[in-house]
This record gives sequence, structure tokens and C-alpha cells, in this order.
Amino acid sequence: MKYTVVQRGDEVSKQLTERFHQLVQGYGLILDEQSPDLVLSIGGDGTMLQAFHKYVGQLNRIAFVGIHTGHLGFFADWKPDEIEKLAEMMRLQVGNADIPVVSYPLLEIQTITESGMETSLALNEFTLKGVEETLVAQLNINDEMFEMFRGDGICISTPMGSTAYNKSLGGAMVHPSIEAIQMAEIASINNRVYRTLGSSVILPKHHHCDIYPRTKQHMLLSLDHLYVQRGDVVSIRCRVSPDAKVRFARFRPFPFWSRVREAFIATN
Ligand code: NAP
Repeated sequence: MKYTVVQRGDEVSKQLTERFHQLVQGYGLILDEQSPDLVLSIGGDGTMLQAFHKYVGQLNRIAFVGIHTGHLGFFADWKPDEIEKLAEMMRLQVGNADIPVVSYPLLEIQTITESGMETSLALNEFTLKGVEETLVAQLNINDEMFEMFRGDGICISTPMGSTAYNKSLGGAMVHPSIEAIQMAEIASINNRVYRTLGSSVILPKHHHCDIYPRTKQHMLLSLDHLYVQRGDVVSIRCRVSPDAKVRFARFRPFPFWSRVREAFIATN
């Protein structure tokens, strides 16, 4: 089995990375940064986002797994003192072509600009915000006008991303086995002139939404942790990716609702 590590860069993550290399290379795993079968992220959920985008072109063959060196993460759910256990789980997979995995849906974003079309994938979410003024955009669902949005911005998240920015916006937690995307408003203006739904909307896999910003509006677009400012966007189509999924190595069960409870509710 070929593996690689993406780590946060702090002292603890660096030391754990060294320890992990020693352990698994002793078990016959091969370090291969170009085309790994398994990518270990050591750091936080933000580190997993970096790992995901680094290997986004090889999603159909890579499985991800994460160790957290801070608080419990949604993507990084192994504790630092479990590193030997994780390495042992990998040893058991040497020579096995099928690592046990779970696959979760991703958000596909098709951006039409004045110069062409770009397609990208988000693990957590895509957001769109006005830069020098409030965002004004028409929102269509399945090619029918839904609402005219005016406010700070719009956040479209995956089920895995429902626990991230979407949660801060009052969106629902969505179990990652549900193939859906969620659209949440960021501080919409609602008065007698401008009206939006005011609550988040969950779209199933066979639906799509299109966002048409006001012509030449200068906007800040984010794809997970990556940000870019643009003034040439004509429209943006969001849907559950019809063919790409993210695969996480599942060496032991850790139910989603247990993670939600441990991350947000448990006090011990
Ligand atoms: P960051 O601003 O340094 O950290 C954002 C926080 O979100 C970190 O605590 C991170 O966990 C956590 N996080 C990331 N993905 C998560 C998930 N799926 N479920 C629960 N928590 C999650 O930025 P970053 O580390 O580069 O991460 C980028 C993400 O930040 C974006 O994808 C977006 O979801 C989130 N964000 C949130 C807000 C908000 O809530 N108001 C605003 C902007 C961006 P770790 O500490 O384990 O890395």
C-alpha cells in the first residue's frame, strides 16, 4: 500500500508524522507523495481540507484518514495517542487492494465567467459574498426563479460541511450518507422591498441551483479554505457532484451523531 502524510506544520504534528513514517515503513508501506492509496492528515479539519484539494484529481482511488493534534475533528477523528493503533490497522491492509472505506457526497460548482466555464469540488462548502457592497443575486432552483437575494452572501455546503460554516449560519446538520447540498443565507436583508426565504434549503441529488449575481459585481468566492476575488462571474451552478465522492478509510466505527455530540455538546 502506498501512503503519504499532509501535516499542519506545528511541532506536535511534525513529531507525529516522523513517528508514523517509522511505524508504517517498518510494516512495508511505501511513501509515495505523487500517487498514494491512502492520505493521512495530521493536524485539524483544516489540514484535511488542504489534503483534499491537493489530491482532488485522484479522488476515485485515494482514501483519506485524519489524526487531530488539537480538538476532536470531523475529518480528523483519531487521537495522537492512537497512532500505533492506526498504523497497525494499516499493516493489516498491506497487500489488500480494498481498504475499508465510506464514501460521502461532494458539492460541484460550475462557474461561468466572461472567459469560459470552470468546474470545482468542495468538501465543506462554497460561499459567495459581496466585496464593496451587499451581494445582489437571483437564485433559481431547477431553472425556475426562486428568490432575489440581497445581503452579505450565500453559503452552499455538503453534508460533511454542514457542521462547519453552515452551522454558524443556523443551517441543519445533515448526515453525510444523505446525497444533498444545503443553501444557507448569510445576513440577508428582508424588508418590504427585498424578500428571501430566511431559512436554509436542502436540495437532493437530482436538483440544482443557479446563482446570477448582478452584472460585473465584485465578489469574494470561497471554496473550503481557498478564497478568490472576482468581478467577471456570469452565473454559478451548484449541485451534488454526479460522479465524484470523497472516500474516508473506515478502520473502526465512529458514528456521525457521536462526533456531533462530542464536538458540540459533551462537556467532558
Ligand atoms: P479557520 O478559519 O482557520 O478554521 C475554521 C474552523 O472550522 C476550524 O476550527 C476548523 O477545525 C473547523 N472546521 C473545518 N471543517 C469543519 C467541519 N467539516 N466540521 C466542523 N468544523 C470544521 O479555517 P480553516 O481551518 O482553513 O477551515 C476552513 C473552513 O472554515 C471553511 O471550510 C469553513 O467551513 C470554515 N469557516 C467557518 C466560518 C464560521 O463558522 N463563521 C467562517 C469562515 C470559514 P480545525 O480547528 O480542526 O481545523
